[in-house]
Amino acid sequence: MARDVYRKFVQREIKAKKIEIEARKAIEAQKALKALEAQKGLNRALELQKAIETQKKLEAREAIKAQKAIEAQNAVEAQKAIETQKAIEAQKAIVTQRAIEALKATEARKEIEAQKVIVAQRAIEAQKAIDAQKAVDSQKAIEVLSQKYLDTYTRLCPTPSCRVRIQKDGGCDSMRCVKCQKSFIWYE
Ligand SMILES: [Zn+2]
Repeated sequence: MARDVYRKFVQREIKAKKIEIEARKAIEAQKALKALEAQKGLNRALELQKAIETQKKLEAREAIKAQKAIEAQNAVEAQKAIETQKAIEAQKAIVTQRAIEALKATEARKEIEAQKVIVAQRAIEAQKAIDAQKAVDSQKAIEVLSQKYLDTYTRLCPTPSCRVRIQKDGGCDSMRCVKCQKSFIWYE
């Protein structure tokens, strides 16, 4: 009888031990499951972090591209501004050059007009000189004719200290100086 009791006791103990082992296994399985869930959560977090970093890198590359595009556009606009400025300066230079050439042409015309005036003035002066010379020549011709007349129709008194001019007005060739009363023959 006692042996049966012991056997039952042992059997209960064994059963209790089995239950305890099963319970421990269940707890450990639960712990393992929790650990696995935790690991999965960590992995998801890591993947999310990687995705965020990838997105950030992508955005940073896009931002750099956009910045480069802006800089390229700025460079193009700066180049256009430089070319526009050069074109304006070239146009100004052309206008200035044309103004200088117009001024030179005006000065050249003025110089030609002044030269024409000088030439005309010289022609007038030359004509005046010719006229003056003609007048002188006419005067000389008159004087020569007068001298010829005097030589032909008058004589100087033979008295060296008198030398008055005497005109023969018809009559005989016997002459008398009215100043010094010297008598002389006209043709002598
Ligand atoms: Zn005389």
